[in-house]
Amino acid sequence: MNFNFTDEQNKFRQEVRHFLNRELPADYIEYIGTTIDDSVVHVGDGFGIFKKMARKYGEKGWLSMSWPKEYGGSSGTNIDNLIFFEEIARRGSPGFNAVGTKMLAPTLIIFGNQEQKGKYLEPIARGEQFWCEGFSEPEAGSDLAALQTKAIRSGDYYIVNGQKTWSTLVTYCDHCCLLARTDPDSKRHRGLSFLLVDLNTPGITVKPIENLLGEPHFGEIFFEDAKVPVTNLVGAENDGWKVAQTFLGYERVYIAPFAVVNTMIDKLAEYFSAHPADDMKTVQDALAEFTVEAEVGRMICYQVAWLQDHDRATEWHAAITRLFGTRLLKRAASSALQLLGLYGQLNLHDDRAPLKGWIEHLYYSAIGSTIAAGTTEIQKTVIAVRGLGMTSN
Ligand SMILES: Cc1cc2nc3c(=O)[nH]c(=O)nc-3n(C[C@H](O)[C@H](O)[C@H](O)COP(=O)(O)OP(=O)(O)OC[C@H]3O[C@@H](n4cnc5c(N)ncnc54)[C@H](O)[C@@H]3O)c2cc1C
Repeated sequence: MNFNFTDEQNKFRQEVRHFLNRELPADYIEYIGTTIDDSVVHVGDGFGIFKKMARKYGEKGWLSMSWPKEYGGSSGTNIDNLIFFEEIARRGSPGFNAVGTKMLAPTLIIFGNQEQKGKYLEPIARGEQFWCEGFSEPEAGSDLAALQTKAIRSGDYYIVNGQKTWSTLVTYCDHCCLLARTDPDSKRHRGLSFLLVDLNTPGITVKPIENLLGEPHFGEIFFEDAKVPVTNLVGAENDGWKVAQTFLGYERVYIAPFAVVNTMIDKLAEYFSAHPADDMKTVQDALAEFTVEAEVGRMICYQVAWLQDHDRATEWHAAITRLFGTRLLKRAASSALQLLGLYGQLNLHDDRAPLKGWIEHLYYSAIGSTIAAGTTEIQKTVIAVRGLGMTSN
């Protein structure tokens, strides 16, 4: 592995940085708090900024960079993608709809038919269509194969009934990737299908769920005899588990926590230079420790991206980045809150909050990151079973 970025990659990183300096509104941080990922945007006109930035990424071609040229991409590498993700996460820049761009689009390139590719890839690449993931249910999270939502074929439609939950950004999205049971007599992962659903379809109701910050980060989706055209089936009927596994595989390397921890370190170093703590040695030691861990995590992420570019990465490599990153983020945010003392607990609506409540927001956001896309326990199982070859319990 070459530990240097190429000249083009260094130039690209600089281009993204200049672009973000130029395009992000000066006060955007007050609208969005901390973005660990594609989290937005729950204050003021946060989603307006999200949409504006998404279109601008689209104009630059950055949302479709790694797609093959025949689908409008530029056949970029996973390392190119990671540079882009790292830079936007480092600035907390909104506008990246991970479900549509990073997960659905490459899945459609493999499993979608020509009509589906023609209809959906372009608006995703332009940053004009926003997708959420409708997989989890009240009784199916870690054990996704237990899901109960049914989609029963009737002529040219599937009639969908059931409930999804924890769907990130659903209240802002226009479309949903749905995993539902198309064979009502099936058990577990057999008999499931992957469907593309327009959320404006009659029979679909969305209800926001507030996260720990009181923001409608995710929501429930209720289906009551909602009609989804058969043409929206991706892959074969009853073979949706395979499609879903590919889709989830594209969540892959998770560099955002390391980028965010680096931003946190920069912010705290600047803050404590202007407002020295009684015990600066404790502050310095903490920031030094987190700098080491964030740097190690970054390196692992780029190594995994390199392995992916050489078709040598596996699912458990990506699980390492998620396990390490989300736990680091949680520890770092908790430590930062303590370093700031009691005022650190004030939120962005309070003028006395240090760093405009950024750390308080990070502290709460970090907790969900250890659950989303597979909990800490599940990531450990993936590493033990698929990486170390141990037997599943
Ligand atoms: C911020 C956030 C965003 C999310 N976004 C989405 C989304 O967009 N779309 C979507 O479909 N879902 C989403 N989810 C849901 C997420 O995928 C589930 O919450 C997660 O898979 C855990 O499922 P659960 O909540 O049902 O908990 P459970 O699966 O019931 O787990 C409860 C506890 O038991 C542990 N546990 C469960 N099984 C095992 C096991 N086999 N071995 C060891 N420990 C185990 C878990 O680690 C956890 O600690 C999101 C969740 C969060 C927090």
